Amino acid sequence: MPKNIIIKQILIRSIVKQILALIIFYSGFIKVLRLLGKNYTKILLYHSISETENNFIRGTRIWTSTDKFNKHLKYLAAKYHIISLEDFVEPLIKGKTSERSVIITFDDGFVDNYYVAFPQLKQYKAPATIFLTTECIENKKPIWIQELNYLLNTIGVEKIWDTLSSLSPQINTDKIIKKRFSKMLLRNSIEEYFRYSLNIKQREKIIAAVNQKFNLSRKKIFSENKIFLNWEQIKIMRADGITFGNHGASHSPLSFLSERQQLTEVKHSKRLIRDKLGTDFIPFSYPFGGTKDFNINTEQLVKKQGHSCILTAEPKLNHSQSSKYQLGRIAIGNLPVYLLAFEMEKGVLKKLIRKS
Ligand SMILES: [Zn+2]
Repeated sequence: MPKNIIIKQILIRSIVKQILALIIFYSGFIKVLRLLGKNYTKILLYHSISETENNFIRGTRIWTSTDKFNKHLKYLAAKYHIISLEDFVEPLIKGKTSERSVIITFDDGFVDNYYVAFPQLKQYKAPATIFLTTECIENKKPIWIQELNYLLNTIGVEKIWDTLSSLSPQINTDKIIKKRFSKMLLRNSIEEYFRYSLNIKQREKIIAAVNQKFNLSRKKIFSENKIFLNWEQIKIMRADGITFGNHGASHSPLSFLSERQQLTEVKHSKRLIRDKLGTDFIPFSYPFGGTKDFNINTEQLVKKQGHSCILTAEPKLNHSQSSKYQLGRIAIGNLPVYLLAFEMEKGVLKKLIRKS
């Protein structure tokens, strides 16, 4: 499909959604949706919460501003019951869920979860779960995807593309070249290429090579930008009721790894969290969490390692009969409240339309 048609379609869809969300919110119809959807538990997925987007996350839609997060909490506390993941999963075994419940989760383990989100959560007495990428905590370095973003944002998408191409034939960039429609699509393609076409070692080698080409010191960048939590901060939050889960060791899509590699990703990280925090309730959230990133085999493997439940990033509705190993989540970025409200009840609206 030509590039301008793809971009136009994305734009039109986004505008239609915003208009629909505005109408539903300000007409009061959102109240009807909340009532119809009262038996579904919404699990929200956040990542980084801070005043401004830094170079590690800009362009990835995983950022929520401090002010927006505060507005979200105010709305959630007024319209829903904010419950803990454990409170949902445990009664789930007995087939019960509380009405209008919502669960707050954060993936990856950004340090701003401690400095920015934690005080706000305390203010609203809101429980939450943070999923940790253990290698980042242990090695005091960002996730590879944040390193890649840093390069894309500081050096530029086109230049990174040219560098990747020049590193050929070691790197097979054919998969990207066909999608070179626009900066946004090119950026997505580069990310997908790193995510699905390279193994852990290749990824590391290429990121190191790009840094070297542009005379960047990774060591210096890491020490100047501590973007991930440390165990001390984790323990302080844990003592104040925050739950911690496993997000794997290196943030690799499990379904693309061999069984042995998957075990390396999942087993040690789970043991590390248990030993550091002395807890048996350890949920798991799939890195990336889309349908491509997990399958029935990965589910069995994660379950077998004794994780208490598994969360995806698929916006599925959760209810009393849901499998606790296939829980859906709604990804929340820097949304205004009317869009947050819409995203939370969109599944109910879809069901309503299908019925009529
Ligand atoms: Zn993640």
